[in-house]
Amino acid sequence: MRLETLAIHAGRAVDPATGAVRPPIHLSTTFERDPDGGYARGYVYARYGNPNRAALEEALAALEGGAAALAFASGSAATMSVFQALEPGDHVVAPLDAYHGTVGLLREHFTRWGLEVTFADLTDPEQLEAALRPNTRLVWVETPSNPLLRITDIRRVVEAAHAVGARVVCDNTWATPVLQRPLALGCDLVVHATTKYLNGHGDVTGGVVVAREVDAWFERLRAIQVQGGAVPSPFDAWLVLRGLATLPYRVRAHTEHAARVAAFLQAHPAVEAVHYPGLADHPGHAVAARQMEGFGGMLAFQVRGGREAALAVAARVRLITRATSLGGVESLIEHRASIEGPGTRTPENLLRLSVGLEHPEDLIADLEQALEAAV
Ligand SMILES: *Cc1c(COP(=O)(O)O)cnc(C)c1O
Repeated sequence: MRLETLAIHAGRAVDPATGAVRPPIHLSTTFERDPDGGYARGYVYARYGNPNRAALEEALAALEGGAAALAFASGSAATMSVFQALEPGDHVVAPLDAYHGTVGLLREHFTRWGLEVTFADLTDPEQLEAALRPNTRLVWVETPSNPLLRITDIRRVVEAAHAVGARVVCDNTWATPVLQRPLALGCDLVVHATTKYLNGHGDVTGGVVVAREVDAWFERLRAIQVQGGAVPSPFDAWLVLRGLATLPYRVRAHTEHAARVAAFLQAHPAVEAVHYPGLADHPGHAVAARQMEGFGGMLAFQVRGGREAALAVAARVRLITRATSLGGVESLIEHRASIEGPGTRTPENLLRLSVGLEHPEDLIADLEQALEAAV
């Protein structure tokens, strides 16, 4: 079945007990044991598993073309479970430009647990080769990256990493399975913050890990999920599953709107640079055109005049909301350097824009009036 059909039907069935077409929310923390002591109905205790979480995991595995999925209480919990499944002394290669929470987990927590970490610009094949070592067990890819929309050639990373016996994990949050299928490009795992496009309505915090195959290492991830218990609530699982139904149509509209906003910004005299892989002069344009089905709903732009000019533009928007996060129906603008804090590599005049599902002309009109005083 095609993605649009899977988005609506994978993990769903008419409720056998009531005939309800939409799934009920199962709040029970515990499940009845059979007289013989077994659990023939499959559920024991809600941390181990619950019908809403099982349905979500089945749907997410289907959308990414994976063998199985594990849902978590946040994208960061999903990310953390992957690092927790490694051993002290294992070496990890991670990108320089990536979600600052992922970088923070590695730098502040997992190096203390004995992981060795090398940060490198994975868009550059020479830096990638130089970063790999015989004890490299994991290469983390995020493409398009946060916040500079850098594009990494997934196949190339997979080839180099697999040659030294390392697994490749792709954070596919910004692209979604609608635009990019990392498992089909050879990655071993996909991670998402379902908080973003997959739920799509800005009202759930969640994450997922999807695996190409169920092996012993994936079983270790599953043990971390159920023993550690950073699992989504039944209602959160239910909401993400509901959001998934419209994912393909939402992502295509986000993409179309972002392309129009990017073209507007690129032509504006107050804008110094636009980072959007759909633009022909973006350094990752050719790779993105090859490995993605569209360029996505996220962009970043730099305002002429530095930090103060950028903050002034963010202060003047009226329709677009000043807030962190992304992937929801409403457009959000963010001065990224100030949320990332001291030591950030993000340019001070950069604003990140999550282009929502409002009419693109209304978004452009809002940006036009906000940029006017900056000219
Ligand atoms: C938001 C985000 C995360 C973290 O997700 P949380 O649900 O906030 O923990 C990870 N990766 C990317 C690319 C993100 O945008």
